[in-house]
Amino acid sequence: ALAMHRVQHAFDGHTVVKGVDLTVAPGEVVCLLGPSGCGKTTLLRIAAGLETLQEGSVSLQGEQIAAPGLRHVPPEKRNVGLAFQDSALFPHLSVLENVAFGLKHLSVKERRERAEELLSQLGMANYMTTYPHMLSGGQQQRVALARALAPEPRLMLLDEPFSSLDARLRDRIRDDTLHVLKKVGAATLLVTHDPEEAMFMADRIALMRDGRIVQTGTPRELYCSPKDPFVVTFFGEVN
Ligand code: ATP
Repeated sequence: ALAMHRVQHAFDGHTVVKGVDLTVAPGEVVCLLGPSGCGKTTLLRIAAGLETLQEGSVSLQGEQIAAPGLRHVPPEKRNVGLAFQDSALFPHLSVLENVAFGLKHLSVKERRERAEELLSQLGMANYMTTYPHMLSGGQQQRVALARALAPEPRLMLLDEPFSSLDARLRDRIRDDTLHVLKKVGAATLLVTHDPEEAMFMADRIALMRDGRIVQTGTPRELYCSPKDPFVVTFFGEVN
């Protein structure tokens, strides 16, 4: 499980995350939703260890990994799967090798099987031996997702993971991703600016505005019992 407590973050004296409390349970998908610039990506990067903590604390599986006075724990030491908008694949490795890369603890055969299974689940069965530069943006995004999921991390951090997919594919890949996330049982924090995506993917939604969480709840709770006119306006865009 992930727990963030009173997390605050500033760039050049400008505070963009303003005392956020957020938890994600194992097997739960929490969508961090909100307009552009409200601080979603920054919060995710703090959880990942891509930003050094300034204020507050972060714990994983009940253990504090970022708190005042603690030495910074980098992403590779956090047992997290990361798939970001711009996550680059290794250009010199095939699709299959990219996904198998993080599975050094398994045998060659197991690595291959795990990578093949995930790539098939994400509709990439026909591209195993292809190199990244020959893939479309949407296909690269799916490989990045498979690579993040392959080591079955306790925490998955996804930033707009479906943004490069065309509408026709998006629903299916969302569905397949959700299926894999639930199977792996990872605590998942997914950043999106799209209320429809959050409604579809989330067990709970944390709606952010200007560095603060306005409301946290199930999609139904936010839709049916909005705490604030901002919540109504934001979900007004969903039909
Ligand atoms: P988007 O959906 O557009 O990605 P967001 O909600 O993820 O937006 P953030 O990327 O967290 O928002 O940015 C929050 C604020 O912090 C913005 O005003 C942004 O300009 C600023 N910001 C983000 N990263 C940096 C940085 N490295 N240096 C300075 N300012 C930054």
